[in-house]
Amino acid sequence: MSVKRKDLFVSIVGEENVKDSQAQLLAYSYDATANFQSKPDLVISPRDTEEIAGIVKICASEQIPIISRGSGTNLAAGTVPNQGGLIVLFNNMDEILELDMENLTITVQPGVITQNICDFVEDNGLFYPPDPSSMKISTIGGNVSENSGGLRGLKYGVTKDYVKAMTVVLPDGEILKLGGKLAKDVAGYDLMSLFVGSEGTLGIITEITLKLIPLPISKKTGIAYFNSLEDAAETVSAIIADKIIPVTLEFMDKGTIGAVEDFMKIGLPLDAEAMLLMEQDGNEEQVASDIQQMIRIAEQNGATSTAIASSNEEAEILKTGRRAALSALARKRPTTILEDATVPRSEIAKMVKAIQQIAVKYDVQISTFGHAGDGNLHPTCLTDVRDEEEMLRVEQALAEIFHIAIELGGTITGEHGVGEMKAPYLEWKLGTSGINVMKGIKQSIDPQNIMNPGKMFAKETKMRLVINNG
Ligand SMILES: Cc1cc2nc3c(=O)[nH]c(=O)nc-3n(C[C@H](O)[C@H](O)[C@H](O)COP(=O)(O)OP(=O)(O)OC[C@H]3O[C@@H](n4cnc5c(N)ncnc54)[C@H](O)[C@@H]3O)c2cc1C
Repeated sequence: MSVKRKDLFVSIVGEENVKDSQAQLLAYSYDATANFQSKPDLVISPRDTEEIAGIVKICASEQIPIISRGSGTNLAAGTVPNQGGLIVLFNNMDEILELDMENLTITVQPGVITQNICDFVEDNGLFYPPDPSSMKISTIGGNVSENSGGLRGLKYGVTKDYVKAMTVVLPDGEILKLGGKLAKDVAGYDLMSLFVGSEGTLGIITEITLKLIPLPISKKTGIAYFNSLEDAAETVSAIIADKIIPVTLEFMDKGTIGAVEDFMKIGLPLDAEAMLLMEQDGNEEQVASDIQQMIRIAEQNGATSTAIASSNEEAEILKTGRRAALSALARKRPTTILEDATVPRSEIAKMVKAIQQIAVKYDVQISTFGHAGDGNLHPTCLTDVRDEEEMLRVEQALAEIFHIAIELGGTITGEHGVGEMKAPYLEWKLGTSGINVMKGIKQSIDPQNIMNPGKMFAKETKMRLVINNG
């Protein structure tokens, strides 16, 4: 970036909050997504909303792309500056501003780490439920912009269900305040929902107010192993049909169980085809009865072994395997691609079987774990980006997985977002008219396309596949 342009930004945030050495630009050229990389021109750490408004006004007049970046843990190349430009960081905007015990809300800056919000409110007897597995490192600004979900999504919903108000800097530098600490508000279009999950393509979120709920008094954990995927899937449906909504209902397939056991040596049954981890929270009596009933349902549906944790320590042991799933798989090959195809709960067994067949068809290594209660599966492909021929087969396999997810009534992403990576597949889900409506919204809010360009909207849509599995 020219010295003159850089000086404009320095005059707003100070020399100490601007980075542009080659090493620094390289560090912000990629995120948690494999195989996407491009260097920004400048990295900047503003300190408040007004500074961000000033920065955006310069970018608007000079047509400089702006990429908001939390912790860069997104898995869709959402923060890769594929057209260069300015990376905006929120490391100077990481404060909890207010806990409102009367309205049960918390107001935070976008750079606060999600886990810190959960810990802070729990110390005050309150609960912020959305818990993406990355919550120890991801920021709340990133969570809101991706509408992230987590293990507790089945019972408590996802990030959008907790956003009450936000401040946004629009692409022309104007500051927009949306929502409030209100239980009800139907004034006009629901603009706040539009910004939730907008992946930095419509504006920069600079302050967020979140809804809190009372902290559940108790929690219990159980586990069940199965010799068939169908038995595990039947158990999931039967639990819900029995009118139990567990806080967590997590799934691991045989490949994942094997990888975890290889890594952790915790005695997991290597012959099991599937594992379900179940958790319930609430009042003690209800929790005890629900967890026992869930285990009973698992046994009625063919579980080969089951267990209920009798203490927090035992619960932690039962949860170790699921928590270690990604790390255990990631040890196997140089590159890990974590996907999140999502189907209706009733289609889980079909989807997992299809993933296994696709892995064989394209001769690639894919294991699956995920949030069974939500139908949100994480087919995880273990590969090596240096092997171009294998990467081609991986791409074909993943495209076929998205295709089948849609055929089964699902979607190409349940929680990781679109970014640059999934943009070529978005039309498969939304159709041409859906894409056109989105383009119209983008054009009216960001006519110069400076907010995270090259994301969400693909240059070219991938051709729908004609699949012949026969
Ligand atoms: C190991 C691992 C586990 C994961 N588990 C989950 C999971 O369980 N559930 C889940 O949903 N996701 C999960 N993710 C994906 C990722 O962690 C989430 O999408 C998370 O919300 C991203 O937060 P971040 O702070 O890293 O945001 P980033 O990756 O930095 O940014 C994400 C997007 O938000 C935009 N953005 C960030 N901050 C702002 C802002 N203030 N204003 C406007 N736009 C902004 C960016 O431009 C980008 O498009 C996981 C990722 C990893 C690596």
